[in-house]
Amino acid sequence: MFDYHVHTSYSADCNIKMSEMIDSAVEKGFSEIAITDHIDFDYPDSEIEFMLDFEGYHRALEKHQETYKDKIRIVKGLEVGIQHHIIEECKDMVMDYSYDFVICSLHGAEGKDLHNGDFFKDRETKDAYIAYYTYMYDCLKAFKAYNVVGHLNLIDRYKKYMTDNVRYIQYSDLVETILKNIIYDGKGIEINTSSFRYNMDVLTPTIEMLKLYKELSGEIITIGSDAHTPDYIGYQFDYIYALLNQMGFKYIAAYKNMKPEFIRL
Ligand SMILES: [Zn+2]
Ligand SMILES: [Zn+2]
Repeated sequence: MFDYHVHTSYSADCNIKMSEMIDSAVEKGFSEIAITDHIDFDYPDSEIEFMLDFEGYHRALEKHQETYKDKIRIVKGLEVGIQHHIIEECKDMVMDYSYDFVICSLHGAEGKDLHNGDFFKDRETKDAYIAYYTYMYDCLKAFKAYNVVGHLNLIDRYKKYMTDNVRYIQYSDLVETILKNIIYDGKGIEINTSSFRYNMDVLTPTIEMLKLYKELSGEIITIGSDAHTPDYIGYQFDYIYALLNQMGFKYIAAYKNMKPEFIRL
């Protein structure tokens, strides 16, 4: 099995040592994990800083690759938080070091944080959805230095800030445009099983989005737990494997030097 979204103490929101996360993956029988620590340059919430010690991070990744080479393959990854006004900086940060795998994530939009609710203030929920996906589309048109888009429907995690119900049909055309763009660029999406950890009422991405991705001939999918603690590595992966099989997907993707390899499910 492959867990392609794992954090360690190099992320500002995680204090578990890299070796502890890897040990847990080895114990659970994983053959590969992608360590994908956060770089969120100019994070919209000024109370938190999501910077990364790139140099130390790469030294640690290489050291652990060597130490664990007979037990597990460690994929050198990065989760880059993109925003439209820092696209160039994001490109540079990805290019400065060599990665196997880069997740492109939106943790805010229009300079406002999703997590602290700023993004939802003084607007109708439907407008928030349209603005979130429009902003994502604008970013993805300009940013290509990645492999998969992380937790595509992160906005669904923040129902607590929403004042009314929105139906998928009200923004599905935007999601379709985004997925077409991702596929056209030769990129993919991830299934992020933190939706279970957060008790969300939908998957990330939702089943509807996965169905649409299949219809549009999308093939590149990675599965990641987004674990910030060892116990969540590989969380609910059996369920996702079964679901993908049932939906007719035949492969998941693994990465080396930013190039996908297809692993039969
Ligand atoms: Zn994220
Ligand atoms: Zn993450």
